[in-house]
Amino acid sequence: MTLTLANHPCFNDASRHKFGRIHLPIAPKCNIQCNYCNRKFDCMNENRPGVTSKILSPGQAMHYLDQAMTLSPNIAVVGIAGPGDPFANPDETMETLRLVRAKYPEMLLCVATNGLDLYPYIDELAELQVSHVTITINAIDPVIGSEIYAWVRYNKKMYRDLDAAKLLIDKQLEALKRLKEVGVTAKVNSIIIPGINDTHVIEVARKVAELGADILNCMPYYSTTETVFENIAEPSLEIVNEIQSATSQYLPQMKHCARCRADAVGIIGEINSEEIMQKLAEAALLPTNPSESRPYIAVSSIEGVLINQHLGEAERFLIYSMNDTGECILVDSRTAPPAGGGQQRWEALADSLNDCRALLVNGAGDSPTKVMKAKGIEVMVLEGVIEEAVYGIFNGQDLKHLMKSSQIHACGSSCSGTGGGCG
Ligand code: SF4
Ligand code: SF4
Repeated sequence: MTLTLANHPCFNDASRHKFGRIHLPIAPKCNIQCNYCNRKFDCMNENRPGVTSKILSPGQAMHYLDQAMTLSPNIAVVGIAGPGDPFANPDETMETLRLVRAKYPEMLLCVATNGLDLYPYIDELAELQVSHVTITINAIDPVIGSEIYAWVRYNKKMYRDLDAAKLLIDKQLEALKRLKEVGVTAKVNSIIIPGINDTHVIEVARKVAELGADILNCMPYYSTTETVFENIAEPSLEIVNEIQSATSQYLPQMKHCARCRADAVGIIGEINSEEIMQKLAEAALLPTNPSESRPYIAVSSIEGVLINQHLGEAERFLIYSMNDTGECILVDSRTAPPAGGGQQRWEALADSLNDCRALLVNGAGDSPTKVMKAKGIEVMVLEGVIEEAVYGIFNGQDLKHLMKSSQIHACGSSCSGTGGGCG
């Protein structure tokens, strides 16, 4: 079957009952904080934008896509929509798109983003024939934007208030213009937030139409607990209809958006089946690169009970496996490469742990984390009992309660290390 733009169920109302889409949840981090978003919830009964049950590596996502295509052969679109922002995770996003394009040359590809870090990737997106990009633009006036966004992180710098909103809006409009220059279909989502931007969405529509946007999706804001906006009521259907009607003088409207989860699969509006959620959970349990055999997990620990040692300070790593009865067992202890030597030290460590799927540490710098990741070893910054963490990883359990605030941080800033160990 040859897929055409008309098969995209989000962009073509006539296709939505016939063709499905799959979101691959490979992008956990976000580069901005919207005052209506809380990505920590994960509820099977809750279909909210951004929510996902698991995070996958690009390799795991391909394995999962293969399974999903068998279960739902009507999938016409592969999209990346979070649960964070695709371009706050650009390596994972671009690698996944390249892998999907290589294996499924006819598949429609799409990406949904806040637009902040989109611009540098647009030319490659066009080369990969990513046909549809959605940017969520809630305001073109920085004063209104400053009420919607708590912060923006750009080029490793934090922005707040008007500066944050202005930067984000500039980047969004710049990216939209470039998308149209390279011929990508551009959808703009604008979330209607009562009392904040409801009378402003018409201005957004006018501006994005001027820059060439193809379609507008005026989405009702969804109230989420533990957010700045949690007490704002959702807009009535009447208000949404009025705004859609007013903005239609500038742009065609998408009216059937189901505000899908970041791991949505199948026909829009249908809840993910238990079978597909099982496939997703299975994919998340595979090694980062599923074609490799990685039966072990390495741990950095001072005494062998707790995960309590910084990666750079470990003199040896404990190697764990699961036995046939599901118990976590210590199978080896491997000497760490000597300190110093920069990049080579981490290359040597990655080689000595090449049968491990993860390395559990109490702290780690960017440099070893990147080297390990490139060699298929996920560095997880955790605190707690080794057995609980190892068992949880082998069994696909949620380890949020063991996670430190950030898995990747400035060396020494939030771990027990001295700040010099990973240099
Ligand atoms: Fe949440 Fe998306 Fe906003 Fe990031 S851009 S804070 S993931 S809604
Ligand atoms: Fe389509 Fe809306 Fe779902 Fe995105 S969130 S896949 S635009 S229906």
